[in-house]
Amino acid sequence: MDLFWQKREKTEDMGNGSLLWAIFHEAEEHILSWKLIENLRQRLKSEEGYYAFPAGLRERFALIYPNSYFVGMSNLGLHIIYALLNERTDTACERFFLPERKEEMEYVRSRTPLLSLETQTPLSEFPIIAFAVSFEMDYFNILRILELGRVSLLAEERGEDAPLVIAGGPCATFNPEPLSLFVDAFIIGEGEETMQKFMDIYYDAKKKGVSRSELLKALAGVQGIYIPSLYRHVYAQNGTLAAIEPLPGAPSRVYRQWVHDLDAYPAHTVVTTENTEFNLYLIETARGCGRHCRFCMAGYCFRRPRNRSLPVIEKMVHDARHYKKRIGLMGAAISDYPEIDMLCRDILGEGLSMSVASFRVDSVTKELVDSLSSSGLKTLTMAPEAGSKRMRAIINKGIEEEHLFKAMELGLAAGIRNFRLYFMIGLPMETPEDVQAIIQLAYKLRDYMDAGHHNGMLTLSINPFVPKPFTPFQWLPMAGQAEVQDILKILRTAVKPCKNIDIIAESPRESYVQGILARGDRRISQVLYAAQQAGGVKFFQRTLRGTGLNEDFYLYRRRAEEEIFPWDILDIGCRREYLYEELIKAEKLQPTLQCFDGCRRCGVCSG
Ligand code: SF4
Ligand code: SF4
Repeated sequence: MDLFWQKREKTEDMGNGSLLWAIFHEAEEHILSWKLIENLRQRLKSEEGYYAFPAGLRERFALIYPNSYFVGMSNLGLHIIYALLNERTDTACERFFLPERKEEMEYVRSRTPLLSLETQTPLSEFPIIAFAVSFEMDYFNILRILELGRVSLLAEERGEDAPLVIAGGPCATFNPEPLSLFVDAFIIGEGEETMQKFMDIYYDAKKKGVSRSELLKALAGVQGIYIPSLYRHVYAQNGTLAAIEPLPGAPSRVYRQWVHDLDAYPAHTVVTTENTEFNLYLIETARGCGRHCRFCMAGYCFRRPRNRSLPVIEKMVHDARHYKKRIGLMGAAISDYPEIDMLCRDILGEGLSMSVASFRVDSVTKELVDSLSSSGLKTLTMAPEAGSKRMRAIINKGIEEEHLFKAMELGLAAGIRNFRLYFMIGLPMETPEDVQAIIQLAYKLRDYMDAGHHNGMLTLSINPFVPKPFTPFQWLPMAGQAEVQDILKILRTAVKPCKNIDIIAESPRESYVQGILARGDRRISQVLYAAQQAGGVKFFQRTLRGTGLNEDFYLYRRRAEEEIFPWDILDIGCRREYLYEELIKAEKLQPTLQCFDGCRRCGVCSG
């Protein structure tokens, strides 16, 4: 009955934090590469702020970002959970990342199991393994990491003494099903409060010596924890879901959790390093977004919009002086922060520089642009998303051309010479005129730059639209790969004569895989598994076809209003009828107002 704990107790008794123990214990099963251990130690030496505890006093917890260290260390969610767990008195949270190609080859060559950064301990020696999942394309990395760590990929094959694999983050929140074969428990929504409850239940179960399945059932009783093995998916003849049946003991709905008082949870970089994508000291100003862009998963899955109070942010800024890094303000739309000008003044007043994750051109201020420019910003990024007024009405973007010109004017006046515009193609109800409108808008903005003799670069960043769960467009088909390729060709041909307009585009092939994973069901979990066995992402499409599943079914059909979706077991707070009303409004080009105090429209603020 209590087999699950036996290996853990044994490893604790032996002090499994020591490398000596690892070498001794692994002699029969693993060989550890000194080169890899040395690399990890060097990486750790270049960090400030990581946690280290004497071996054996705390339960180990593996926190994994399923991409490289370089990318993962710029993920604020990872820092938040890392600090939260290590601030407990019973848990030692250590980090893992996907090794870089050369490192991975060394792991394979030397037969070394994947090692943690802090103590270079093999992954399989951790009783809990948690993935922070932000992007669908990282699902392949999750499987690779489990393989490298010698952890069974399939949850049902993990015995009583195997690690418990959990996952959280945006992808887990909007549709966990494509990972359901591999993950024992998902954290739905924001993790600050749920993870504490998770750990308390875990330690309580450990004390009582309950079995793995009893532990999972106990976790299923916690709000915001979803245990996929406790649900049966029943399919109709046409391939759609006929029912999602909770097994005995499982709740009929799993409710997304969100932090009501952000001030209670200041969120900032915990471990600093030079070796990361953005090399910023991240500070979160706000969560959620009240702008209601109809394509935006984050706008629906992280409601309601909440701001941290200025004094709490000011304290984080003040504390950040020690690190002498540029401050990266994090939030869905930084310019919507009500006291953004004051915050800019605070940051510069502390002798620091700043950067922002994103801003909206209809709320950007002169002070914000000036502060970014004086912080060394060379390229101002704006996100009209669509070229035509009509398409911006469909997606409820809520910005007009004059906002773009105003933001460009502020940027030029502040000495910024380069601009980047984000557009999506293949949006719902898109016509050839909408595509032409992207070109026209780009040329108008280019003319505006040229009129002032500003010869910087105008870059168009083009992303194929991928419909996401829990948005009003979850019912709609995605544009075909060929269609998207054609649009890209039209855009590239149109801007070719202008050497100061550049286009960068996300690969339509990658968007295709992303599209299937985003709205995939449990059967896609099997495809992922088979593709991984075959060699990874490049085998995904072939594997899908080989399993008899039809890509048209996942990508290219309009779903019936009442169709049961794989993610329908989750309750993110937005009523389904509200989302469908938003779809109808999109078809009628009707606007939706942003969130306001006292609003009860979507359901999130009614609870
Ligand atoms: S402004 Fe629109 S696109 Fe940006 S986070 Fe908010 S809802 Fe999403
Ligand atoms: S109920 Fe209203 S204010 Fe609250 S999240 Fe929904 S739309 Fe926004």
